[in-house]
Amino acid sequence: MELAQVAEQEAHTLSARLTSSHAALRMIGRYGGGLVPFGYRKSPHPSGAGWCLTPDPDTVAIVREIVDDVRSGLSLVAVAGRLNDADVPVPRDRHALLQGRPMGGRRHGRDFDKFRWTSGTLSKVLRSPSLKGHRIHKGQTVHDAAGTPVLIGPPLLTEEEFDSLQELLKARSNGSHPRSRTTALLTAVACCSGCGGRMYFAARKGCSYGDYVCRATARAEKCLAPAAMRSDWLETYTVTRYRELTATGSPVSRQVLLDSGARVTVSKGHRGGNSARLAGPDTSRLSFTLTEKGARSDS
Ligand SMILES: [Zn+2]
Repeated sequence: MELAQVAEQEAHTLSARLTSSHAALRMIGRYGGGLVPFGYRKSPHPSGAGWCLTPDPDTVAIVREIVDDVRSGLSLVAVAGRLNDADVPVPRDRHALLQGRPMGGRRHGRDFDKFRWTSGTLSKVLRSPSLKGHRIHKGQTVHDAAGTPVLIGPPLLTEEEFDSLQELLKARSNGSHPRSRTTALLTAVACCSGCGGRMYFAARKGCSYGDYVCRATARAEKCLAPAAMRSDWLETYTVTRYRELTATGSPVSRQVLLDSGARVTVSKGHRGGNSARLAGPDTSRLSFTLTEKGARSDS
C-alpha cells in the first residue's frame, strides 16, 4: 500500500514535470523583431519556425553583475560609469553588433561611434519585464488570452528577483535624499590621506551623486590637505578593487567591506583640473588595501 502510494506520487510528479516543460515549450512565443533585450540573443524557435530569445553568453553575466551592483548600493550613475569603463556596449549597440551592423549612429542631432551608458539606459534595462523573458509591447508585458505573460525566452531573473529589484529602484527614485536614510557605502572605509580621518558623504544638490569629503574641520582639527572625491567614482573604484583583490563577483555592501578590513585612502586633488579629469577619478590619488582575511575593522 505504502509502496503503491510512493509510486503513484512519483508518477504524478513526473507527469507534472513533463506537462510543465511541454507547457513551457508551447508557451514560448516568437520574437517578432525589434530591439533584442539586453542579456538575450535571437535563436531558432523550438517549433522550427521563426525565432525566440535565449540568454546571450556575452551579456547575461553582465546583467547579473549590474543587478548585484545595484543591490549592493551602487548608484545607477556609478554602475553606468563602470559599464562605460569596461566598454560594454549599450543595448542598442549590442543589437547592432548581433545584426552585424556598426555601433553608434545619430542621436539628438549628433553622430556617435557608439553610445554611452547613462542612468537612464540602465534604468530602462532594469525596469523592463523582458528580464523575465516576457514579450514586451510599448514597455508593457504582452499577455495571452488566458492572461498569462507571453514568454519569448527563458527568464534571466526570477519573479522574486525582479520584484525586489523594482522595489529597490522605486525606493531610490522616490527619496529626494536617498543617502540620508542609509549610511553611505564607504563610511568608515574611505579616509583622507591628509589627516588620516574618515571621509563622509555629502550630497550635491540636484545630482544623483555626491562627494566623499574630509571632515577634519567638523572634528575641530586641521587637515593640511583635505581630500574630496565624487562619490560614484570612489565607490566604483573601491568595489572594483575589492573584487579584483578578492576575486569575487558577489554583491559588495558596506558590511562586506568593513568585515574584510577594506580601506581606501584618498589624497587631495589638484585645483582646476583639465577635461580628462571629468572622465573618472585620478587613480594616482587613490590607494586600496585589505587587512588580513577575517580581521574586523573596529568601527
Ligand atoms: Zn583630511
